[in-house]
Amino acid sequence: MTSSTRVSPPLRVISGPDVRALLPMADAIGLMSDVLAAVSGGKAYVPLRSAMPVGAGGNGLGLMPGVLEDPAVFGIKLLSLFPQNAAAGLSSHLGLVALFEAHHGQPVALLEASALTAIRTAAVSAVATGLLAREDAGDLALLGAGEQAASHLEALRLVRPIRRVRVWSRTPGHAQAFAKAHDVEAADSVAAAVGGADIICTLTGARAPILFGRQVSPGVHINAVGACVPSAAEVDTALVAKSRYVVDLRASAEAEAGEYLTAREAGAIASDHIAAELGEIVAGSKPGRQGDREITLFKSLGLAAEDLAAAQFILDRARSLGVGQSVRL
Ligand code: NDP
Repeated sequence: MTSSTRVSPPLRVISGPDVRALLPMADAIGLMSDVLAAVSGGKAYVPLRSAMPVGAGGNGLGLMPGVLEDPAVFGIKLLSLFPQNAAAGLSSHLGLVALFEAHHGQPVALLEASALTAIRTAAVSAVATGLLAREDAGDLALLGAGEQAASHLEALRLVRPIRRVRVWSRTPGHAQAFAKAHDVEAADSVAAAVGGADIICTLTGARAPILFGRQVSPGVHINAVGACVPSAAEVDTALVAKSRYVVDLRASAEAEAGEYLTAREAGAIASDHIAAELGEIVAGSKPGRQGDREITLFKSLGLAAEDLAAAQFILDRARSLGVGQSVRL
């Protein structure tokens, strides 16, 4: 058979509910640990993402391409970034992951991206928490009550003995609804949510800091997950300066992490303030937590490598279980 007559494999289309069913959080945490180590070990090509405005209302289109060595795949996550979508009952991150195999370059899958993003982002924070939070960290504060808050609650319960959860959100009714749905406590201010907390997750669309260095206790671990563009920051310069600052990828943090860039421009941190990439700690080439009173902060920006590794894992399961729809292009 010549290449011109060879039949391409079917493209598998995998829905959001199927993504959720095929990627349990416990599996996602192990998978993210492996892919972060691969990224930091130079076994992935992850260029900076690009984003462009859609109209003048703060909406955008995001493009996150990448190439993995093992599994040998490449592809792109295409996302609409519509921060006001929650009011319409929709995710603020809608889109697709397009996955290609790297032997002949054939497209092999299209996966719904918002479920995948919610799971993989929380799983990455769980990897960070597992490596950086105190072993006995059990008091969790969630700042934000959206999609990421729900997935982070699920993920962090798998890596630490969580015994108390407080949630704060900009709109008090949203924190109260989240607290009721998840059987946790609603807090009416950031200070009331984070006082004495062992783990704090910032999971908001805030453009300016909501969490300040003066509010956190020694020994806390913070996952800073919102604010993924240079013009936004969820935490202030004082907190960046007093924390051991760990990132998913140095190049991304130096281009996109608003609170890091602000602290550097203010002269509050030195050029070597990024202590490690998370994958370096996974691989053991950099240490994790170094003492009970250390303040650790993981800045999550999100990497296409995480999306592609998750997509391949889901595709393998979908094929073996006969899940999803096959389409011939
Ligand atoms: P949702 O839209 O589901 O929830 C957004 C939350 O942020 C709500 O609690 C909302 O409060 C709050 N919020 C929105 N604007 C502001 C503001 N100006 N000040 C304070 N709070 C605000 O979003 P997600 O849960 O999906 O995502 C949360 C954040 O995480 C976003 O910034 C998103 O871009 C980011 N993200 C990061 C990823 C990564 O890999 N690092 C991956 C995916 C998302 P309320 O509704 O109460 O008004």
